[in-house]
Amino acid sequence: MNKFEQLGLNAEIVNAINDMGFESPSGVQEQAIPILLEKETDLVALAQTGTGKTAAFGFPLIQKINAVSKKTQGLILSPTRELCLQITNELKNYSKYIPQLNTVAIYGGSSITDQERQIKRGAQIIVATPGRMKDMVGRGMIDISEISYCVLDEADEMLNMGFFEDITAILSHTPQEKKTWLFSATMPKEVAVIAKKFMKNPEEITVGSKNEGTKNVSHEYYVSPGRDRYQALKRLADANPDIFSVIFCRTKRDTQKVAEKLIEDGYSAGAIHGDLSQNQRDLVMKSFRARQIQMLVATDVAARGIDVDDITHVINYQLPDEIETYTHRSGRTGRAGKSGVSMVIVSKSEVRKIKSIERIIKQSFEQKDIPSGEEICQ
Ligand code: ADP
Ligand code: MG
Repeated sequence: MNKFEQLGLNAEIVNAINDMGFESPSGVQEQAIPILLEKETDLVALAQTGTGKTAAFGFPLIQKINAVSKKTQGLILSPTRELCLQITNELKNYSKYIPQLNTVAIYGGSSITDQERQIKRGAQIIVATPGRMKDMVGRGMIDISEISYCVLDEADEMLNMGFFEDITAILSHTPQEKKTWLFSATMPKEVAVIAKKFMKNPEEITVGSKNEGTKNVSHEYYVSPGRDRYQALKRLADANPDIFSVIFCRTKRDTQKVAEKLIEDGYSAGAIHGDLSQNQRDLVMKSFRARQIQMLVATDVAARGIDVDDITHVINYQLPDEIETYTHRSGRTGRAGKSGVSMVIVSKSEVRKIKSIERIIKQSFEQKDIPSGEEICQ
């Protein structure tokens, strides 16, 4: 028997898993799946970025849904539009052998009437951002009064982004008896508050140490005067011709500017940030996933939770304001057992911030010199 079957998953799902090429369950999957399949319980599951949380709730959710009924039975709340689309695609993959099962993504910046139409056709599972969901539930466009399962995915991120009120409003439209599954990379106070407020005696699982997610990532920093930052970035890109990278900037303006300059200078780059239309964002993500773009310049919000395979480098063009954010950024690489490099470009005065990051991630940085022109040509 295959390891996923041993966890209690049925043939339709196991066949889909085989098609995806997953050989064995990850730690969080191994722990969460049997609990969710066997017990009707609330669950709090903590596991770092890149550990396969989507499948940890996605497989059992799909198995528990009655695909014969068209009623909405499961709701997944997730912090960003990109994540909603990503989760929806994954669930569609997981349920490819259950053709009656329909998963619909609900998020802002895209036609509300289209989304309403999709729901009306029958969606057993809805994957939504809190803002748009609250809006549509409030306007009576979506009925979640009979759902059985509610998943709060990337709960720490949703709360970081200020979605507490929206989540509360949405959950007030769901039945008391539903089960709530909360998945998060970290457990800040706000997540504990949500768990206490909305869950009844949840089972709790924690996988690995809090910072396990960065263990395949090596960290490097490069000191460069602020005005030379862009030159430094180009040098780093030149020294790594096969780079497939996310470059983080602090503001939407810098993100756009850096991407434009890279393109002007002949690099394969694109930008993703909140000032772009949803259409533009989808297009950029599509080209990046297809590797038509080597360097995706992004703000933290736009890049949150994005899971693209085999990212070789994360480049911190500017350090984030919050140190915690660094963990999320570097978690974009070194996923699913692969190794990756997280690079930081800092000015002299910022070097002390590297020290505080080292304390938090419990890993040390290597200080490296910006590659010189000659080194690159060799
Ligand atoms: P998280 O939500 O914990 O950040 P994801 O669910 O986005 O992580 O999964 C990270 C990556 O690992 C995805 O590319 C996913 O396809 C892959 N993955 C998940 N589970 C497995 C598995 N059991 N075997 C191999 N790869 C997996
Ligand atoms: Mg996730």
